[in-house]
Amino acid sequence: MNNKLSIITLTCLLVISIFSPTYASETVRIAIIQDTSSLSLKIKGFFQIRDLEKHKIIYHAKSIETTVTTYKSGIVIGGIKPASDKLLIESDDPEAFLINGKSFRGNIQLIKKSNNKLLVINCIELEDYIKGILYHESSHYWPMEALKAQAIISRTYALYQMQENRRKDFDLTSDIYSQVYGGEASERFRTNKAVDETQGKALFFKGKIIPAYFHATCGGHTEDAALLWNIDLAPLKGVVCPYCKESPHFNWHYDFGLKDIEKKLSAKGFKLKNITNLGIEGKDASGRITNLIINSEQGETKVSAKDFRETIGPNLIRSTNFSVAIEGKDAVFEGIGWGHGVGLCQWGAYFMAKDGKSAEEILKYYYPGTNVKTF
Ligand SMILES: [Zn+2]
Repeated sequence: MNNKLSIITLTCLLVISIFSPTYASETVRIAIIQDTSSLSLKIKGFFQIRDLEKHKIIYHAKSIETTVTTYKSGIVIGGIKPASDKLLIESDDPEAFLINGKSFRGNIQLIKKSNNKLLVINCIELEDYIKGILYHESSHYWPMEALKAQAIISRTYALYQMQENRRKDFDLTSDIYSQVYGGEASERFRTNKAVDETQGKALFFKGKIIPAYFHATCGGHTEDAALLWNIDLAPLKGVVCPYCKESPHFNWHYDFGLKDIEKKLSAKGFKLKNITNLGIEGKDASGRITNLIINSEQGETKVSAKDFRETIGPNLIRSTNFSVAIEGKDAVFEGIGWGHGVGLCQWGAYFMAKDGKSAEEILKYYYPGTNVKTF
């Protein structure tokens, strides 16, 4: 085992067994597969399997290609049947793991859940994780200061999740990660440079890591996080954003069949049939809609704009800042911005960086009262 892997292993063990009183160190635990009965596993290099319940190494070998399942007393890895519900696999190859055909660095934890299904967790150094996702969250052609701002908030967001989920099996879920994380294949020179130049830096408010939310384009004013989630923090109350006007996502338009809206909302338990009118009830300080009032043969139905967007599809109804009118059998939406609107406006950051603003200036603008510090 080289030193790097030993550190990741140690951190995995610490997080699981001791619950470090500070931030869960620099290893992030990502649930890459949840609730599966079996998976394919290929390991390169010399590897060892550690029983995390008995705290001992139970198997070691060189390279393996096999299937992983569960059995009554534990987990089956090819011909090996450890009587344990929690295993850690480490290898001396930094890109050792191919799981269901996808490459992963760091270490892998296999956990058998009470429903006999497998949970697969990738333990990876935080800086490597940020390198793996930055390319997907920001174009590597963007100005360096915008990339650095994104690297700092991606790191901050991960640290916040590590802190919040310390007592859970993992820090971050796979929904975003599995789609966007591609290990070394996703890394680019400029995005890696932004990560290296901001190494260990995160965003703090009154000495604490903040949930550094971000979105593509705010459309003129960022949103108050308290209106969407149970997070009431001064840096996330929303700011005027004059910077994203030239964003390619500033305006959006979408025609949606009334029958399709009815179908999607009905599937979520809303009672409506043959929509006759769509109205808007209330707007918040940022201009985003509070509720939609939908009239149909079933009467009046009130749906929060947040739920409406999530139900119809957040990439179709790109924001909750829109107007809507019925034309024939369709609802015609005209909107501005893309995303929930909380925290940093990525296209605003892009134009601020183009205007010569530094990463720290950009972050101070979108998260007022915060400081960038090494954690
Ligand atoms: Zn903006």
